[in-house]
Amino acid sequence: MASWRQGYRLSTLWILAAAAGLAACRPAADEAFLIRDVTIVDGRESTPLSGMSVLVEGNRIASVGPVGSLRPPPGTRVFEAGGLYLAPGLWDMHTHALWEPFVSDGSLALFVANGVTGIRDMGGELEVLRRLKAPGRERGEAEPRIVASGPWLNVEELDSRAGMAVVTPAEALRAVAAIAEAGADFIKVYLQLPREVFLAVLQEAAARGLPVAGHVPIEVGAQKAAELGMRSIEHMQAEIGGYCNPEETGDCVSLFETFRRLRTWQTPTLVVRRNRAHLEDPAVVEAPGLEFAPAYLREEWEAVRTLRLESMDAEELDAVRGRFAAEGRLAAALIRAGVPILAGSDAGDLYCLAGFSLHEELALLVEAGMSAREALRTATLGAAEYLGLEDSLGTVEAGKLADLILLEADPSENIANARRLRAVVLGGRLFDRPALDRLLSAPDSVELRGSREPEE
Ligand SMILES: [Zn+2]
Repeated sequence: MASWRQGYRLSTLWILAAAAGLAACRPAADEAFLIRDVTIVDGRESTPLSGMSVLVEGNRIASVGPVGSLRPPPGTRVFEAGGLYLAPGLWDMHTHALWEPFVSDGSLALFVANGVTGIRDMGGELEVLRRLKAPGRERGEAEPRIVASGPWLNVEELDSRAGMAVVTPAEALRAVAAIAEAGADFIKVYLQLPREVFLAVLQEAAARGLPVAGHVPIEVGAQKAAELGMRSIEHMQAEIGGYCNPEETGDCVSLFETFRRLRTWQTPTLVVRRNRAHLEDPAVVEAPGLEFAPAYLREEWEAVRTLRLESMDAEELDAVRGRFAAEGRLAAALIRAGVPILAGSDAGDLYCLAGFSLHEELALLVEAGMSAREALRTATLGAAEYLGLEDSLGTVEAGKLADLILLEADPSENIANARRLRAVVLGGRLFDRPALDRLLSAPDSVELRGSREPEE
């Protein structure tokens, strides 16, 4: 059984923390530790590498090598990991987590508690973005890395928590400027945006060095949006019946070829589509982890669920389920065609709880035809490649940031094993199982102080 080896060096801080009953097994981020005799599973190797040790120093992986080959500094703490598997931290590439009170009540920690060390947030409050990206602000202890769009742009405000209305190209320029100045990493667009407004968004975003991702505006279409440089497309345009019909010979070929050639990434978000289609199914409303959702969120989901189930008759329910089945076939066709895929769950949307829903998405991607290893790669190295961060994230390699998950079984054998977390390392800070359990039941609140200085 893996455990901290007895007799390791105790720092004063450590003793104080233990005496106060706080985070007794959570080392500070600047301490070194060795994960010894572990099997490494990442997106590069076709077979897991057993008998390896990984030395973490500060927030980085200092070295990786066969057991006994590393030279850790004297006094380095050792995590005996015989029989365990070490993979890179997971990314949920489609979340809605940046809104209040979700941020202040500490719910972001639910991602980390599930091994999700990074998220791409696809629509949240501008003010929360501004506070989160304030210069000089330090990431919270149990806060995942966050790449964020702030509010999405559409002609009408569908959700004041996540969207912003823009009707003219001039408004689009002002909106992109405001979102960029709040610290956004990219701009998210939505379905109903008129063509000329979309073009204005692309132009202003490019001028500011920001990629554009999101829903393809209906007026533009997926082929054209990809050619214009849209970086990722969400939900396979499920809202308007999908891109094409993979059952029709040749229907999808040229579009998928465009996606592959231009590396236009696709985020199928199968879990949220399934949840919407199967609200009568106990598997959705009793999904693992929902007991850890904040009460206000459970109540909100339950209200939406009741409303939808009451307003739909059996025929409509059948139609919705049929559409989800078709989306599954579309995702399968994208996977077969070798189009780059992102694992995103729409966490925050209906019964998609932070962290937990990514594991559901990975299971559905495997059902759609990915191998477990491909699913793992998609949520790790794939995400890093999309973000242009493959030099610092996405694999277990010396020099990279120490974002890691330690598992009881091999996730490349069965992706469900990615849920079996023994520990999570985030930026060199180790959360062992008791620390993860604490995050689930009493998440740390995330500090969001200070405001962003207006730019010149
Ligand atoms: Zn979304």
